[in-house]
Amino acid sequence: MSKKPLKPGTIAAQGADRDGKRPIDPETGAVVPPIHVASTFERGADNSYPKGVVYARDDNPTFKAPEATLCALEGGADAMLFASGMAAAVSVFQALKAGDHVIASKAMYYQLQNWLLGLGTDWGLGVSIVEMSDLDALRGAIRPGATKLIWIETPANPQWAITDIAAVAKIAHEAGAILAVDSTCATPILTQPLSLGADIVMHSATKYLNGHSDLVAGALVTADKDAFWERIETVRRQQGAVLGSFEAAQLLRGMRTLAIRVRTACANAQVLADRLAAHGCIDQVLYPGLKSHTGHEIAARQMNGSFGGMLSIRVNGGEEAAIATAAAVKVWTRATSLGSVESLIEHRASIETRDMGTPRDLLRLSVGIEDVDDLYDDLDAALKAVH
Ligand code: PLP
Repeated sequence: MSKKPLKPGTIAAQGADRDGKRPIDPETGAVVPPIHVASTFERGADNSYPKGVVYARDDNPTFKAPEATLCALEGGADAMLFASGMAAAVSVFQALKAGDHVIASKAMYYQLQNWLLGLGTDWGLGVSIVEMSDLDALRGAIRPGATKLIWIETPANPQWAITDIAAVAKIAHEAGAILAVDSTCATPILTQPLSLGADIVMHSATKYLNGHSDLVAGALVTADKDAFWERIETVRRQQGAVLGSFEAAQLLRGMRTLAIRVRTACANAQVLADRLAAHGCIDQVLYPGLKSHTGHEIAARQMNGSFGGMLSIRVNGGEEAAIATAAAVKVWTRATSLGSVESLIEHRASIETRDMGTPRDLLRLSVGIEDVDDLYDDLDAALKAVH
């Protein structure tokens, strides 16, 4: 067998682990692992647990294969699934102690910022929000001895701001803090944050990892199985935000087509961004794959040559024209969320429950895997009907 590490596309398609081992059931030879529905596992007469599994909130055997595949895709030491992306993210913060200080990006998923500045702050975290492209501002926000964690999202909702993972990791480590990255929109196909120095990667597995808008799930991957990771394991075990067995199996099925879905979405998004940038009804296209985007250079370095399936457009005529455009599409679906096979369009400021500085004329586009001409023609017709 070749000693070369397997490429992400192969790991994903085979649902393999980091050694290239496929999840074939040893009992039956089934090429897809079984779904274990048991909540509890038998203790031996000698009072031990001979299979090492006790109770499904601690150790659900159905998690093993999707966790191993995601761990291999991210090049991590261990991975954990959670009941949602929010549960995964919040577990990281809850593994800190009251009085610890965290720094998070200005551009990020608004609900997580809501949690940090609401429940997280009430519970005793010190929280600073900084513009992550300004590394001096980041350095200035560090509270020596107290800053324990820096949280970034890249590309970040909804203007696709890019953060230099390697540069922020260096600053975090110099301050004795760890770096956690919400890599939901990059996916392990485009960026592997751990290889750039991050300590923890988080995914809303609801999005690209599953890819079909039919489950809610979250995941964390760690570079090291250290004491902090053990605390996160304790948070999951004791607070119980675990995924169901059926969702875990469905997630593994979704991940098997991750590479091909992401590549097609990226190719479609790049075509759309190029065409829409020249469209008379559009003021601005926000996409890291465009040279005009402020994050283009860093994205070109850290995103494996593709720029993701998410882009936003600013429609001439303001909020009213943007909402009317979303109302006029026939091929795109008006819905929140992202990373699925079908393309979604959303007036972003209408869903955000905190002021994230999102322009009122912005439509967020999650580009799917449909024929790109259909996607473009539909948007073009909608824009022209409104203007
Ligand atoms: N991070 C990002 C970038 C997201 O877009 C979302 C959801 O929209 C989340 C985290 C939260 O994930 P979930 O909805 O699975 O809880």
